[in-house]
Amino acid sequence: MLIGGMQLDQQLVTTALVDHAAREHGAREIVTLWADGVEERSNWSAVHHMARQMAAALVRLGIKKGDRVATLAMNHLHHLVSWYGSAGAGAVLHTVNPRLFDEQLVYIINHAADRVLLFDRQFAPIVERLKPQLPTVEHFIQYDGQGDLGYRLFRDWIAAEDGHFEWLPIDERDACGLCYTSGTTGNPKGVLYQHRTNVLHAYALLQPDVFDMASRSNVLPVVPMFHANAWGLPYGCAAAGAKMVMSATNDAAALWRLIRNEKVTHSAGVPTVWLAMFADMDANGGDYGALKHVVIGGSAAPRAMIERLMLNNIRVAHAWGMTETSPIGTMGAMPHGWDDMSFDQQVDMVAKQGRVPFGVELRTVDDDDVVLPRDGKTSGRLQVRGLWIVQRYFQAEHDAADLDGWFDTGDVAILHPDGVMQITDRAKDVIKSGGEWISSIELENAAMGCPGVAEAAAVGVPHPKWDERPILLVVRKAGSDVSAEQIISHLSGAVAKWWLPDEIKFVDDLPHTATGKLLKRQLRDAYKDYRLASLDAAS
Ligand code: AMP
Repeated sequence: MLIGGMQLDQQLVTTALVDHAAREHGAREIVTLWADGVEERSNWSAVHHMARQMAAALVRLGIKKGDRVATLAMNHLHHLVSWYGSAGAGAVLHTVNPRLFDEQLVYIINHAADRVLLFDRQFAPIVERLKPQLPTVEHFIQYDGQGDLGYRLFRDWIAAEDGHFEWLPIDERDACGLCYTSGTTGNPKGVLYQHRTNVLHAYALLQPDVFDMASRSNVLPVVPMFHANAWGLPYGCAAAGAKMVMSATNDAAALWRLIRNEKVTHSAGVPTVWLAMFADMDANGGDYGALKHVVIGGSAAPRAMIERLMLNNIRVAHAWGMTETSPIGTMGAMPHGWDDMSFDQQVDMVAKQGRVPFGVELRTVDDDDVVLPRDGKTSGRLQVRGLWIVQRYFQAEHDAADLDGWFDTGDVAILHPDGVMQITDRAKDVIKSGGEWISSIELENAAMGCPGVAEAAAVGVPHPKWDERPILLVVRKAGSDVSAEQIISHLSGAVAKWWLPDEIKFVDDLPHTATGKLLKRQLRDAYKDYRLASLDAAS
């Protein structure tokens, strides 16, 4: 065997990312808008220093390699510091989603056996309420606000350390992060990220066809740090030496103010966030500032949303991924021939979920696990494998991926000959009508292109002849009186006739998951015995 002549002892560890950011881009800013409205300016050099203080403080608490340190927090400086401080002490940062129900919070904190819980003042009521049910948590530390609640404050806790701390020795295969899936069925499942997978994922983010990040980028992740690694941005920004702008509030007006004042060039969030941002802009005016690149993912980006941003000269990158994929699986980029496409063709392209970066592979299979062609027509169960894809859930007894590494995503997709992937549905959300499949996502997106429609959800309801037929639940935009007939007429130009919903029902709002996706399971349950009015008319 001939071993290569290159350095073997360089480990792919996440602490190396913040070392790099501090050394090469130390003065690049980290801006936080705290929940109380105060703005704080810091930089990568200070993040590095505070992270070393925090690592020393964790060691002083007796936290050992592999122990879990949980956060219940929005996006801010101290949360960012914790990503690196916990890693430097060899601990695993467990980002907990504060929007989960109490039972889920109790389940995952106990399942993870978290020893420390760092939390925002705004979530103190959750901590107070659940504390008696969290026997593994030995230390509760408050991130922001004053000491009036009696908890130790993060700033005071780390200030006791001088910051001259050497990161503990870490292997690149050690765990560094833990994130539970929202869990559409059964208990939430924990995905345990490794240093190596997170660093490789950070490299992938920088590419022009992915997040296209550079040291001059000013990045505002609207996606919360508890949602699937904040899509890798806290790592990617450190690798690039980019400025980070973080908001502990999701108030649309505050986000626009930050975007404009901080000259934000890149942002990322789920479609519901952009809907709220557009509604605010429509009501209060204002422009897009220096925004150039918007990543939309987490659920399908409606065409109307993509068009609006593109018409304002903003590149829209439609991303698909999962907690299990760290999370970037695919990203929409401008393909070869982009400049020769019409605007409509470009929007069509962006509305699909894009291509894999190097390091990820996709395939679709049928019900018998036969691999399907990439013909742009045949849809099947989407499977994924690669450098940052889950192998086994935390503390599970069996692998989640098969022997060849393929992980079944639970999504249904079409692969196109050029490698572009198009999600047609969650397997559970597909509407099965007369033996054929109707894509609930396509129906919803088409409906959201109709003026006056703010949000729409398509669900299948029982039908004696067709098995299922779609109905559409619609939230009207404020002040609109759009009618069912107008929506049907709009849809007629966009989808096949047999896809048209049998009924349109207007609702005040639609339920969302803790990460801002339509809560289809709840809607399916609510409408599982629904009787279409046309059936009564016919009988
Ligand atoms: P989570 O792990 O909570 O982020 O959920 C992952 C799931 O979100 C995926 O399996 C998809 O069903 C859905 N999803 C993520 N991104 C997209 C997208 N761009 N279009 C459609 N569905 C998406």
